[in-house]
Amino acid sequence: MKTIIEPFRIKVVEPIRMTTPEYREAALRKASFNVFFLKSQDVLIDLLTDSGTGAMSSDQWAGVMRGDESYAGSPSFHRFRDRLREMTGFEHILPTHQGRASERLLFELIGGKGKVVPNNTHFDTTRANVEHSGAEAVDLVVPEGKDPRSRHPFKGNMNIDALRRLIERVGPERIPCVMCTVTNNSGGGQPVSLANLREIRAVCDKHGLPFVLDACRFAENAYFIKLREPGQQGRPVKDIVRDMFDLADGATISAKKDGLVNIGGVLLLRDEQLSRRAGDLLILTEGYVTYGGLAGRDLEAMAQGYEEVLQEDYLAYRIRCVEYIGEKLLAHGIQIVEPPGGHAIYIDAKAFCPHIQVEHFPAQALVCALYRHAGIRAVEIGSVMFGGEGHKPPAMELVRLAVPRRVYTQSHMDYVIEAIAEVYGKRREIRGLRIVRAPKVLRHFTACFEEV
Ligand SMILES: *Cc1c(COP(=O)(O)O)cnc(C)c1O
Repeated sequence: MKTIIEPFRIKVVEPIRMTTPEYREAALRKASFNVFFLKSQDVLIDLLTDSGTGAMSSDQWAGVMRGDESYAGSPSFHRFRDRLREMTGFEHILPTHQGRASERLLFELIGGKGKVVPNNTHFDTTRANVEHSGAEAVDLVVPEGKDPRSRHPFKGNMNIDALRRLIERVGPERIPCVMCTVTNNSGGGQPVSLANLREIRAVCDKHGLPFVLDACRFAENAYFIKLREPGQQGRPVKDIVRDMFDLADGATISAKKDGLVNIGGVLLLRDEQLSRRAGDLLILTEGYVTYGGLAGRDLEAMAQGYEEVLQEDYLAYRIRCVEYIGEKLLAHGIQIVEPPGGHAIYIDAKAFCPHIQVEHFPAQALVCALYRHAGIRAVEIGSVMFGGEGHKPPAMELVRLAVPRRVYTQSHMDYVIEAIAEVYGKRREIRGLRIVRAPKVLRHFTACFEEV
């Protein structure tokens, strides 16, 4: 059989409220052409983010009921810790409320003025936490990772020569760790190969540097390794996952991605001293070391989520679902970042709307057109997000369609594809936007626009 089915049945349904184009037009104007201001019940298919938007399984909900809410030493913590130990081989495991809390703890301890942190591409909160500590964040992805048409199988790979040159230039004593993000979220959800992770490890060993994974989507990354890397095809994904973690000295994780939960994070460390200091900081602002700002029920849901995310039927469905959208859009002549990544499709808005100049935000204009036409909420990744005073416009104007885990069916995706193709057919009607007002930082969340 060729057809890949959703490997689950649906026990609880959440109604989608249907709306008309006229209703959406009014809602969009009320939201000042910024979809962050929309009420989520006015959205039909919400592809704003894959973070914390997944559906939990019946076993996870059973865990929610079993959750033990004791302040210290809860069995829910032990179940969570044991699951993560078994999966990653790490000894020291701290729960946090989400990924950025893990980042804050780590860089408060190892960051600081004068330090330099290399990564394939820093995610925005990772960069912000590195810079908040006073350190400099440097992105060293391979050149193929920046070319939207390149079909390289591992576009998330680190440029190893560039890493060597950086270490030579600034000196290993100024580098507190080398990071690598799997999959490379800001680079289009593109995977990193096991061979590349091993090369990073070898460079770290040569200079005595710790290697830290930003491991939010480690399971999706491992599945790509199984699909694409020579010699990996016959191996269980859980073994590939273990190989990835075995190469690292630490990992920061947002469980809102491959943890299949709505909230949660993890900080994994091998060094006992460092882990003890991170635990002290955790207690200062998040909570005691056996709950880290979460409820016992959240720890149960995470423990179960990290069981389910390694099921290969799930991963086959997950990766295929995203690839399916990408293939169909390409077949309609719509340019996307190729090949499709693990959690999202990125539409090239400059190619979609060649009549809209960059200063009139073609990607934001396309986001508005998709909402108007079909009630789909996507997100702009372009000049609105990265531009503004003192910034040069980014290389690409992208519209990201992030796919929540286990939430939508194939017919929802067919609806999305049909809608985008229809908008493409009348793309000349899409009008550019100008900013009416915006804050200085992170302006995409709260900027207001009008049509030009
Ligand atoms: C989401 C994400 C983070 C931050 O996690 P939060 O749970 O949103 O704080 C860090 N790195 C990557 C690669 C992410 O995708």
